[in-house]
Amino acid sequence: MSESPSKRESCEGPLRREVLAVRGVVQGVGFRPFVFRLAVEEKLAGFIGNDTGGVTIEVEGPVERVEAFRRRLEAEAPPLARIDSVVSQIIPSKQENEFRIVASDAAGQVSTGIPADAATCADCLRELLDPADRRYRYPFLNCTNCGPRYTITRSIPYDRPQTSMARFKMCAACQAEYDDPTNRRFHAQPNACPVCGPRVWMVSYANLPTRDFRGAEANLPSCYDPIQQTIDLLLSGQIVAIKGIGGFHLAVDATNETAVMRLRERKHRYGKPLAVMVRDLDAAREVCELTGEEEALLQTNPRPIVLALRRASSGIAESVAPGIPWLGVFLPYAPLQHLLFADARVKALVMTSANLSEEPIAIDNDEALQRLKHIADAFLMHDREILQRCDDSVMSLVDGTPQLIRRARGFVPLAVPLPFDSPPLLAVGGHLKNVFTLARGRFAYQSQHLGDLENVTGLEFFREALQHLMHTFEIEPEVVVHDLHPGYLSTSWAKEWAAERNLPFIAVQHHHAHIAACMAEHGIEGPAIGLSLDGTGYGTDGKIWGGEVLIVRLDGPDPSSFERWAHLDYVPMPGGEAAIREPWRMALGHLHAAGFDVESPEILKLLDAKPRDARILERMIEGELNTPLTSSCGRLFDAVAAVVLGRGVVDYDAQAAIELEGCAVREDDDAGRSEYALELWDGGESAGPNVIRADRMWKALLSDLRCGEDPSRIAARFHAGVAEGFINAAANARIETGINTVAMSGGCLHNRRLARLLRTGLEEEGFQVFQLRNVSPGDGGLSYGQAVVAAAMIKNRKAEG
Ligand SMILES: [Zn+2]
Ligand SMILES: [Zn+2]
Ligand SMILES: [Zn+2]
Repeated sequence: MSESPSKRESCEGPLRREVLAVRGVVQGVGFRPFVFRLAVEEKLAGFIGNDTGGVTIEVEGPVERVEAFRRRLEAEAPPLARIDSVVSQIIPSKQENEFRIVASDAAGQVSTGIPADAATCADCLRELLDPADRRYRYPFLNCTNCGPRYTITRSIPYDRPQTSMARFKMCAACQAEYDDPTNRRFHAQPNACPVCGPRVWMVSYANLPTRDFRGAEANLPSCYDPIQQTIDLLLSGQIVAIKGIGGFHLAVDATNETAVMRLRERKHRYGKPLAVMVRDLDAAREVCELTGEEEALLQTNPRPIVLALRRASSGIAESVAPGIPWLGVFLPYAPLQHLLFADARVKALVMTSANLSEEPIAIDNDEALQRLKHIADAFLMHDREILQRCDDSVMSLVDGTPQLIRRARGFVPLAVPLPFDSPPLLAVGGHLKNVFTLARGRFAYQSQHLGDLENVTGLEFFREALQHLMHTFEIEPEVVVHDLHPGYLSTSWAKEWAAERNLPFIAVQHHHAHIAACMAEHGIEGPAIGLSLDGTGYGTDGKIWGGEVLIVRLDGPDPSSFERWAHLDYVPMPGGEAAIREPWRMALGHLHAAGFDVESPEILKLLDAKPRDARILERMIEGELNTPLTSSCGRLFDAVAAVVLGRGVVDYDAQAAIELEGCAVREDDDAGRSEYALELWDGGESAGPNVIRADRMWKALLSDLRCGEDPSRIAARFHAGVAEGFINAAANARIETGINTVAMSGGCLHNRRLARLLRTGLEEEGFQVFQLRNVSPGDGGLSYGQAVVAAAMIKNRKAEG
């Protein structure tokens, strides 16, 4: 089948015909019309078509014009395209005289990327707000340069019948745009207009006597503007569930304290910061102190939530991000969101994933009505089905470099490269903030952020997303990789799944995976000194690790092993998991380990603890009752936050550590006092790993507190002391091993102050220092590291025959 012929003028000189196989993100990004225009401009004949590997192009014409085409193909590619490779071959002339776009070929092995969802482009935004345009205020306009992709796609090749737009038949005007190679909407798969496309409507209590929405849609009056109604409800302090690109958001006026508090109460989420969407960059500058890099990051296509310092005069309700100096801000990325902000009265909206605590985000209309009925006052719905759940991505700037905290919308399903070939494999990740990875060849495909795998809904989301990505990329895993922790739901699930398919499975130690991820992203096969500063992960000795200095190599005879060169000394964690939720327990464990009398009035006062409770904990520690030992760096931060800030109990993950970093945000980096530096102790005759101890730090910290030193100074000194301790450990590891490369990873590297202090300090020592950029250093990046270790093992086994 051929479409869109274009006459080729006759030309002189020797002719050449070339076939080009282009791989990368080249479908659904306006690549075919771009190539068509290029071929017409260069007066070449031939064709272009999508295939499951990317696109195939044949061009024929004078040699110099074919070469010009080849150059321009890569230099002028459309903004959302990413060319990974072009393989070309000269073939005999076919004596054609026109260039055509041909229908997709669905055969062959899949290796093309489905594009990620893209934010509304400037051209579409102009049309959206132009009263003369036929798409004026139409919330689903898009073009080849923007719009939803991954979240509306069932499988590839990325064509309309494979998306949730399949049920909308284009009107004549839309079809004409879709068929016209010179139009911005040529083959824009989600192309739509008010005549033929999806629509929005509102379901609200105002129209209903009870909180039962079933059948409610039929009762609504037809002549109203649901978007205006949404704005009015938001401005009056109501909570509206708004269906977006990757799921529903719960929206509320971010400047209205009462409204934000009501949302928190209904969501049962009291401390965790909420993301705020503002109209544009100027509005973002009004609420946050933005650096140039942060401004640039806000405007990048994934439109991530960016953590930035909140202005005192921001006007944003205090309860949006209580206890911390940052705000997660982001800009509108869907036409519907632009329309909400088109009303000048709307300044800033809390836009938080519509879910209960760590459950998956709601995507389906009925599901949302059911699950959110006790939270939302109204629902702004639409009938373009979301096929893949996808939260907003979250980023921050560490040392002026963007770092991913949550990799989701706008990034998924773009591939992350691997430094060596991998067999088809599945790495299932960890327990909290789960992300899995499918790998094949030189590419790893990370799932979107899936949340915690603690409950059935979490596991269902995991299965759903896995099914989809396996299908999309036609990857049938031959190996399954999981964490070493026997108690993780992901571990037992992985083993069962592998057993059902008769597949081998590989366990990878948590912090080993964190370091391998960092090495692989930078193409380092090793050896490297790994600083894995983290919350918790299961160690090879059955204890809970998290403050580790590891020697890792991916090119040795056995990449599954590593050397534990040093670790934070073990301290008791009275109550196990309870000590994570209640940092005062961790503080007591740490102070006990540092030799303090934890029942003394001074310590009891510091921990705000009752003598009886402290005594019980001390007995647990001494009797080793429900008191695992941990070398976790995250837990050390928790303990210090409990003592310095009185943060005895947390209600979201890493809250204490985040507040401690926030407390020091205005302090200089060189606030250090040498007594705060953690000390490296020799492993001794046992020949075990060296240990890093915090006793001296605790003494200095308590003496500062007695002198009435500012908590912010103490927090700054503590950060510097931790950094100094690990830099010193790395320097000693270098003396012993001669390794000059440091790879840093683990959840504590989200702490910008710590990451900056470590990097600058290590570089001053002459180290080459690497940190993760395109993969999260936290547990969101764990599965990528697991995949790397497994692929390295398999590669090296093969090499040995
Ligand atoms: Zn557009
Ligand atoms: Zn239409
Ligand atoms: Zn971790």
